[in-house]
Amino acid sequence: MPIPLSRCPHLLAAGLLGLAILLLPACQGEAPVSGGAALPDGQAAAAELPARTPLEESDFQALTPHDQVVSFLEALDRGSPRVTLRDMGTSVAGRRLPYLEVSLGTFGEPREDRLILFIYAQQHGNEPSGKEGALALALELARGDHDGLLGEVDVILVPQVNPDGGEVHRRTNDNGVDLNRSHLALDGPEVVALRELFHRWEPEVAVDVHEYYPWSGAWLSEGWLRLWDVQIGLPTNLNTHPGIRALAEEEGLTRIVGALEDRGFTGHNYVVGSPELLRWSTTNPNDGRQSLALLHTLSFIFEGKRSEPLAADMQRRSEAQRVAQETLLRFTAERATEIRRVVHGAREEARRGEIGRVVLTMGRERGDGPLEIPVESVTRRDGREASASGPPEDAWVVGDTVTAVVENWFPAVVERTSTSLPAAYLVPASEAGILELLRGHHVELEVVGRDVELGVETLTIAGFRQEILEGEQDIARVTSRSGRHRTGDGDVLVRTDQLRGVLAAVLLEPGSMHGALTQPAFRHLAAEGPYPVLRVPTLDGVALAGIP
Ligand SMILES: [Zn+2]
Repeated sequence: MPIPLSRCPHLLAAGLLGLAILLLPACQGEAPVSGGAALPDGQAAAAELPARTPLEESDFQALTPHDQVVSFLEALDRGSPRVTLRDMGTSVAGRRLPYLEVSLGTFGEPREDRLILFIYAQQHGNEPSGKEGALALALELARGDHDGLLGEVDVILVPQVNPDGGEVHRRTNDNGVDLNRSHLALDGPEVVALRELFHRWEPEVAVDVHEYYPWSGAWLSEGWLRLWDVQIGLPTNLNTHPGIRALAEEEGLTRIVGALEDRGFTGHNYVVGSPELLRWSTTNPNDGRQSLALLHTLSFIFEGKRSEPLAADMQRRSEAQRVAQETLLRFTAERATEIRRVVHGAREEARRGEIGRVVLTMGRERGDGPLEIPVESVTRRDGREASASGPPEDAWVVGDTVTAVVENWFPAVVERTSTSLPAAYLVPASEAGILELLRGHHVELEVVGRDVELGVETLTIAGFRQEILEGEQDIARVTSRSGRHRTGDGDVLVRTDQLRGVLAAVLLEPGSMHGALTQPAFRHLAAEGPYPVLRVPTLDGVALAGIP
């Protein structure tokens, strides 16, 4: 069924450009959209959309500065009924943090019938191509190019999480905080704003858009330059629900790599490290992707190929990033039923307290054989032996594509230690900082009245052992003892049968490689002796009369 002409969004937009007749077949070819696709009469009078992104206006020569990001999004908001411009907060330096809500109807409504895709780019200010790709996708969404994908999916698009870093091409925010190492610590206002936006909607699918740096010395010294346009990182933290991990790996990754290749780009599962030690990605939930995966989200990271200088080859780089983001939207739309089943199922399991264990430490294991990947061969222009001296690029000559064989290949993320997930943790009122951190993560807390008697496991840090996990790390050796405990005034119960129960356990367990005690603010917890947080194995038969 063709969409009636009066309701064809392409026609409304195209009519302004006098191209109606050319674009009409596109509308007829797209499946009718459901869920309030119709644009009310009169919307055609909206302001004209920009024809191009700021990057395109510069003929791909100039990266889009923050003021142009804002004015471009404002123009999309004025020119399209599909997008609404909002701010999620302000940066350290006071810059606006704009984002778009994209919907054919009322954004996020009705929530139970919608999937929400959460795209956020440029947490690292010196990685611009994701932002440029997001702006290109935003224009297409505003114009109606992807209306056929928005029948069941709404999109939140945050093109620039770190504008202060972006303005000066710096990784960190204006306080020197690496925002993609701030998702557990919540020590960057930009990340707090981003996560508040996430908590407001709890999107089912998310992607954090970055760039990787192919010109690293360890690869150059082998004569190799990594060539993928976009690497796709998966939720590899073992506390991610297995159904979500399988969907990401078996379907999402394949689809995105395939779509990139169909358009003349290259993609690959994200490999991290150097030929001396190479592995799949990392597991740290201080980054955006893993942290949202712990909240039972189908969560990815895209790593576009960075360049030196930063704006070089931006047409290809931004287009590859746009294609990857568009493909994730397409995947979300086309697999909506399965994604809903897996993500909502995982969230229900969490709320019912059916997640039995939490992995405390994860390591890596060697694969069966070496990794063989395509790379570009590089030699030094001055004929000297290749060394680890790195860029500038003009010191190097890029040659043929060859196969790199990496022997030190550790593809498996493996569990080292885990513990059963207790029914709850008891945090004493004296640990106000921990409680504030949990509140910052929207973990549900219940204040227990005084003198409630609970069966508990008291925990003691007996010492520390050094382990090689993602790097060398000191991990607490923990002993536990069962006993009875009477609560004090203001003590707080953190039940694990909630959406953020696994996240709470990752933060509260003293033997957790990503526990709060590894954060600078909570070093006082990383001391030998009694640990102040108690495990409560079961709440059966406990009279919690004091809970309001
Ligand atoms: Zn990055």
